[in-house]
Amino acid sequence: MAAMKVALVGIGKIAVDQHVPALAASPDWTLAATVSRSGTVDGVEAFTDIATMLAARPDIGMVSLALPPVPRFAYAEAALRAGRHVMLEKPPGATLAEIHALQALADRQGVTLYATWHSRIAHAVAPAKAWLADKTITRAHITWREDVRKWHPGQDWVFEPGGMGVFDPGINALSILTEILPAPVHLRSAELEFPENRQTPIAARLAFSGHVTADFDWRQTGPQTWDIEVETTEGPMALRMGGNLLEIGGQPSLGANTIMDEYPALYARMAELVAAGRSEVDLSPMIHVADAMTLGKRITTDAFHF
Ligand code: NAP
Repeated sequence: MAAMKVALVGIGKIAVDQHVPALAASPDWTLAATVSRSGTVDGVEAFTDIATMLAARPDIGMVSLALPPVPRFAYAEAALRAGRHVMLEKPPGATLAEIHALQALADRQGVTLYATWHSRIAHAVAPAKAWLADKTITRAHITWREDVRKWHPGQDWVFEPGGMGVFDPGINALSILTEILPAPVHLRSAELEFPENRQTPIAARLAFSGHVTADFDWRQTGPQTWDIEVETTEGPMALRMGGNLLEIGGQPSLGANTIMDEYPALYARMAELVAAGRSEVDLSPMIHVADAMTLGKRITTDAFHF
């Protein structure tokens, strides 16, 4: 089957780092246009607004949105109204209700909406889920600490309303947690540290039902820590390096202690969903973030400057 045409919107850090190379290598997709106010991709037709692209290129069947969450809704709505399939970066939007509205619109239009969670595609996540399926979990702890200056250099939107602060990476951990646990948990309490000059938290500590806890921090310098450690009645299991390395009983079992490409698998999944005429929109990671913002105790901390 011929590759389907895609327009990539928001030519910024993640588009350049991951989407463009994944599309270049994809047997399913051809990057046929970009929409970005300033970014372009060599050899690809470039538009600066979505309405013009949708009108000019009816041959492009899918729109992939790599924008930050706040501006994303208007672009997704325009693409769905124009009858195009839509793929959303994580977090899928700024609010839960707007994603429900997009899902309803996609259903009415008979097109696919895929809310991606790239960390769920990491190598060891599916094996971890399979290992935990018949275990009794006694406690679990997430440590998700990284340097915001490395992963979001100068990106002030992460500290603006809707940017989610440390939950921008933390939601990746929650996307893995909600995938691998045999039964869902719910938030019981949270502490959120807000820099005195910012609108979103730079650190968060969460406590869930089932003795599940999480520690998210954007102030770690040097190597990041992206670990989920689970204790069961049959011994410990850990996922390290963002879900890429599985340890059972304290010993490496599968995968590697390195970040592996997740985006080719996301685009392959999107092709499967389009072929099957289905959508995939799981908001459970974002529900935990919304709950933390609702329930969390707010602590003011030092000002943050990039
Ligand atoms: P980014 O580089 O700051 O933004 C991506 C592009 O979006 C920008 O280059 C900009 O392009 C466009 N944009 C920004 N604000 C806009 C606005 N208000 N209206 C219209 N367009 C706007 O961000 P990013 O790091 O790529 O992150 C984008 C999404 O990918 C986020 O949801 C993030 O969570 C996710 N993600 C990021 C990473 C990472 O390592 N950074 C990893 C995985 C997933 P123009 O100015 O040219 O329009």
